[in-house]
Amino acid sequence: MMKCLGILCSLFVIFVCEAQEQTRLPLSDYFSETWNTRSGLPHNSINSVAQTQDGYLWIATWEGLARFNGQEFKLFTRSEINNLPDSGLRTLTPTDDGDLYIAGSRGGVSLYHNRLWDTQFSAAGMVNHLFKSKDNALWLALENDGVFYRAANSKKDISIIKNVSAYRIIEDASNIIWAATSDGLYKITDKHATLVTPEYGLPNSPVYNLLITRDGQLLIGSEKGAYILNNEHFEPVDPQLSTESISSLLEDDHGDLWFGTINKGVFRLSPDGLEQLDSENGLPANRILSMLQDRENSIWIGTNAGLFRLREAPFSYWTKKRGLAGDYVRTVLSHSDGSLWIGSSTGLNRLNKNKITSFTDINKDSSYSVLSLLEGKNGEVLLGTYTSGVLKVENGVITPYLNRDNGLGSNEVRTLLLDSKNRLWIGTASGLTRVEEDGTLVQFTNKAELPSGFVMALSEDNQGNIWVGTGIGVVVFDIITEKFTTLSFPKSFAAEYAFGFYIDKDYMWMATDRGLVRYTYTTGEMAILGREQGLPVDKLFQVVATEKSFWLSSNRGIIQIEKKQIQYILNTDAEKKVIPLEYQLYDEGDGMLSAQANGGSTPSATAHNDGTLWFATAKGVSSVKPARLQASTQVSLPTIIESFYVDGKPTALPLDGESVLLPPGVSRLSFQYAGLSFIMPQRLNFQTRLEGFNNKWVNRQHSTTAEYTNLPAGRYTFMVRAGYPNAKWQQNHKVISFVIQAHFWQKMSFKLFVFFILTLTVYAIYKYRLYHYKQVEIKLISRVESQTQDLQKQADAFAYQATHDQLTDMPNRRAFDSWLAKNFASFKTQNKPLAIAIMDIDHFKRINDGWSHIVGDKVICTIARILKTNSEGEQEIARWGGEEFTLLFPGKTAFEARVICEQLRENISNNDFSTVAQNLNVTVSFGISDSIGINDYDRLLSRADQALYKAKNSGRNRTEII
Ligand code: GH3
Ligand code: MG
Ligand code: MG
Repeated sequence: MMKCLGILCSLFVIFVCEAQEQTRLPLSDYFSETWNTRSGLPHNSINSVAQTQDGYLWIATWEGLARFNGQEFKLFTRSEINNLPDSGLRTLTPTDDGDLYIAGSRGGVSLYHNRLWDTQFSAAGMVNHLFKSKDNALWLALENDGVFYRAANSKKDISIIKNVSAYRIIEDASNIIWAATSDGLYKITDKHATLVTPEYGLPNSPVYNLLITRDGQLLIGSEKGAYILNNEHFEPVDPQLSTESISSLLEDDHGDLWFGTINKGVFRLSPDGLEQLDSENGLPANRILSMLQDRENSIWIGTNAGLFRLREAPFSYWTKKRGLAGDYVRTVLSHSDGSLWIGSSTGLNRLNKNKITSFTDINKDSSYSVLSLLEGKNGEVLLGTYTSGVLKVENGVITPYLNRDNGLGSNEVRTLLLDSKNRLWIGTASGLTRVEEDGTLVQFTNKAELPSGFVMALSEDNQGNIWVGTGIGVVVFDIITEKFTTLSFPKSFAAEYAFGFYIDKDYMWMATDRGLVRYTYTTGEMAILGREQGLPVDKLFQVVATEKSFWLSSNRGIIQIEKKQIQYILNTDAEKKVIPLEYQLYDEGDGMLSAQANGGSTPSATAHNDGTLWFATAKGVSSVKPARLQASTQVSLPTIIESFYVDGKPTALPLDGESVLLPPGVSRLSFQYAGLSFIMPQRLNFQTRLEGFNNKWVNRQHSTTAEYTNLPAGRYTFMVRAGYPNAKWQQNHKVISFVIQAHFWQKMSFKLFVFFILTLTVYAIYKYRLYHYKQVEIKLISRVESQTQDLQKQADAFAYQATHDQLTDMPNRRAFDSWLAKNFASFKTQNKPLAIAIMDIDHFKRINDGWSHIVGDKVICTIARILKTNSEGEQEIARWGGEEFTLLFPGKTAFEARVICEQLRENISNNDFSTVAQNLNVTVSFGISDSIGINDYDRLLSRADQALYKAKNSGRNRTEII
């Protein structure tokens, strides 16, 4: 379908509703919380609130005192505070040195010092206020009984003003004491009080509260308004307050003044004007009894129906009340001009520098339900709507752009994308449409290409491919082939909807209905971070990123996870994972009006160019500034060891520098601790360390108890420190030193005695054993010696037997072979001749057969003897085997050897063998050869053997040479 679109079908007029310059949140838009008796307070009348130097918050009520650590209240009543005449408390006065005065009904006064209550002597009546002046004296404002002065260390109160109800006392820079009373304002100099006359400009009325501002000015709250002293003249602070009864006063860190009234809630006077907060908009009651700003800058307001706190939460929001067209926000766009565009179910807004611009259709008095947004090439904004297709905002004017009447598949436009070729992609509830640069429309409706026509997200990757998120997975439009490919999620993921994309260098991240899917461009591999991997939800709508974290929007809030955490979980095999997935889930407790982020159209979350992240939610658009969140996690906050239990019994905590002495045999120690954060107490993590046991910090996560059992006697130091997730550990860790004493048998002296006795015994046994072993050793050594000798003899005999023939005691064939093998080569290299003769007894068989084997043996022995006795020095003779012998003639030629052999032959044949056997004649034959012209001794032997063969064949009893 081709159609050039006309412009200006209808005109919309813009209203610009300018919000005021925001240096502070409007009073009604602070994040507020209330605590009352249901949350653990002893009474709902919050008479006084104070913060001591250790960081604790203290709350005075008619039923006692509560100490708040951010998580729970610890109560102090008459049973904990000895000698206090009554639990009803009216006033709390922290001192500069970390102590706290409490005072109240029946004149009770007590000082909390070094974790102990030091109850002071009682005043004459109910104390409404206690004030410590610069001279360390106490000033007491009493109901009905006026003002008393109690000098430092004195036990006597001096009455300064009588017969009035006094409510408040203060000292100004020139040491003048001012007292707020039922008569009006008193000025006290040198303990002399004068009623400030109407000449000062004050109405004739009771004065309830006093404050010295940071500029040193005296501010008073009276039954008839608030006044400030200027040159001996009080001026009304704001005419509107003149009709109010002001019971409490506060100056905050901005220098803004807060006024608590007796029946109209709280007023704040700032450069933004006078604002009121009352029970209509969240305050538990309109009667204000006390106010405090804590060190984290939260404002605490004590009413007669509970304690109320206003704070700047990590998340802030814009809603209909602050000027948005609607609270149900579906889409938020970060515009390159620095503005934000917010689309809700009832219209569109632009938010720029805290100013909201509204776009309203003045003719039809109706507005659009916005689903998606896009910044065009020239900064114009396109909006996809629920029922009206695509509209265009240009120069503040909204015009229809494309809808079903002129070619769009559906008027329900969920996502818009302008690709790098300036082609506009429009994803609708039924199909995808592309508008070419010239206005031509291309429709993608083919089921085969686009398995689901329900398109919710579009993204262009670095290659220019278009990723399409649909109701049944993802399809990718290849920019080169112009074809769609379905990207099926692995079955095990069970993911179907793809709500959003986030393009990374190496990966495409996809927010699906089963978690976050990571697609690796190079390999096409996919991995999922879902419930099984530790994600608290199934369904994720959109991913936005800061440098180190991913921020994932979901129906249950915004999930922040460090990128390296995600990569670790996705890259590590399930069984090898040692660290579980760590994430932060931000929800209503963190300043979101609704944790339900919206999705299913884009962009439903956006990272803005000022570093803030924005999320479309069911109640307004929520934003967080990660840098500020990070900064608030780095604020130093006190860590406190609250209690110490030994074998289940509470034990007094030692003072700084001291250590607790514990009896021998204690088996169970437990420590309760807290991080005194009042803004995000539930996010605090703790680490503890017990020096003397294990010098490493141990992670305790959110647990505020550490327990140790069966510690051996010794000296220990317990330490605890706190930290916010993704932030450094706080350095101001708290410490308790303690000593577990030893039983007498655990003591060093006893151990030494036992050690000495044991050593002595062991030494005696040792000495005896040593003597015994010496004897055994002597016997053993002689036995070993004789055995060694025997063995040596045996070894020698074996060695001799191995080389000698048993019968003749001549070297055997092995000895002969090894001699030859060892020496043949050296004769050759020295060019010396070597002759060898093999001698064999002739017809020996006949001797054996004719006489006997015994005779045969005797013949062998006789011949051996003849050979031995007649041979010359260097000759080597061996019994070759059987009745054969070999003779070696080193340095002799065969001919020289023959002379010797002939001689031997004759000796043998002439020998008289009659001593061996009657009529026995024995002859032998020799075969001789030498090494001349022969290179290996085997050859030499075989030649001698051939010569012997020849001698035998030539008639025996002869020598032959070959
Ligand atoms: P010829 O002149 O050809 O050497 O004849 P011959 O009988 O000596 O023949 P031959 O060398 O074949 O036989 C040797 C015999 O010597 C065979 C064997 O029974 C005998 N004999 C080998 N060793 C011993 C030994 O240690 N003692 C005795 N009594 N006889 C042996
Ligand atoms: Mg033979
Ligand atoms: Mg023979």
